[in-house]
Amino acid sequence: MTAGFTISYLGTGGGGSTLRNHTAMVVECPDGERILLDAASGNTVLRHGEQLGFSPTDFDHCLLSHSHADHCEGLPHIEMQRSRRNPAEHPMLVYGSEGALADLGGLLAYPTRRLSVDSEGAVRRGDGRRSFAFRPAEPGQWIQITPTVRAMCAPVSHIDGAQAWRVESGGRAIVFSGDTRWCPSLAELAEGATLLIHEAICTEADRRRADETAHSTAAEAGRIAQMAGVGALTLTHIDDPFHADTELLTAEAQSVYDGPVAVAYDCWQQRV
Ligand SMILES: [Zn+2]
Ligand SMILES: [Zn+2]
Repeated sequence: MTAGFTISYLGTGGGGSTLRNHTAMVVECPDGERILLDAASGNTVLRHGEQLGFSPTDFDHCLLSHSHADHCEGLPHIEMQRSRRNPAEHPMLVYGSEGALADLGGLLAYPTRRLSVDSEGAVRRGDGRRSFAFRPAEPGQWIQITPTVRAMCAPVSHIDGAQAWRVESGGRAIVFSGDTRWCPSLAELAEGATLLIHEAICTEADRRRADETAHSTAAEAGRIAQMAGVGALTLTHIDDPFHADTELLTAEAQSVYDGPVAVAYDCWQQRV
């Protein structure tokens, strides 16, 4: 068996979803390192992680796409569980744009949480322990996660500071779009990737909705996959009308992309 990546989709719903949990994934790298890619809202990462055998102490790196609540509001809950299970100081490194980390700092420093964020981006508990360390991520700069795993972000078009991520190891690469409207420059970040995980809020039939909310249609996700020449495309950030019947999304992406297309669902594990 060749060592590749395993992606565990802990949440695959769009921001307005009532049928799926919000967006988060754990990417297990060929060297065994586990990276959290977005953090969903509420206890999604804790609950669905538990179901798949992950403790929140299993990952020490979080790559954040942007600061909408459906992608990062789970972090305070993850912070609490990690602090309980790690009596010694063991901060999780959280990477994102300056703007996204500033927003997240506000969320974590909610008065009753007794957390503080200092100017260096250290998040501390009331007892002084550091629980998170913010790491601003510069587009185009590689971040060495482990000796064999590295990650890089690129800006996308959604809200200020929204970023897509590429994670590479052993000649393979996973790219996650985060939330974005049609963003041709994303094809550069995704060039030749093993797998592109791209959001798709609706089909072309309802494209006004995608435009108004700065999201992509399935056809747009497929076009990025085709331009980038990726090995496979997985659609995520799924809205209620497509929860049970994902065929329209798949068919539309396949009409413009030659490779295999899948639609993620909560607690699915994909190996590439
Ligand atoms: Zn979202
Ligand atoms: Zn968003």
